[in-house]
Amino acid sequence: MKACKDFEEELLDYSELTSGAREAVDVHLGACTNCREFLDVLSQLDTALERAYEKVNAPAGIQSNVLARIETERPLRPVSVVPEFLDFIGWTSVAVIVCALAWPIARDAFIETSLPPVLATVALCACVVFVVATWVGVRVYSDLKH
Ligand SMILES: [Zn+2]
Repeated sequence: MKACKDFEEELLDYSELTSGAREAVDVHLGACTNCREFLDVLSQLDTALERAYEKVNAPAGIQSNVLARIETERPLRPVSVVPEFLDFIGWTSVAVIVCALAWPIARDAFIETSLPPVLATVALCACVVFVVATWVGVRVYSDLKH
């Protein structure tokens, strides 16, 4: 069952919902006082805004002017690179700690055994690739959360 939070977007677009989507929202509204009150407040707000701005006429071409201006504006530069640099240091530290913890295992498993040197090197490279891939994966996951 979906939570109230999952219906927020649908309640914001309630008048534009398809019949199938509206039916699911209506079932929830039938059982949820909070969402009914939220929808009622949204409806009152829409009515108040329509009344307040019914006599305001936007100049002709305002939409195309705004879109053209958005196209010509330069994107904002980040204010500072310090947070990204600190983030890099933090994730590099995590990678170093993981490598330090993995080193005794890798040494015992691959170097101090009788594996042929080529095979030991390949195995060690595979471990390094695994650690780097894990680090990159964690980093990408961290970026996706923002
Ligand atoms: Zn609800």
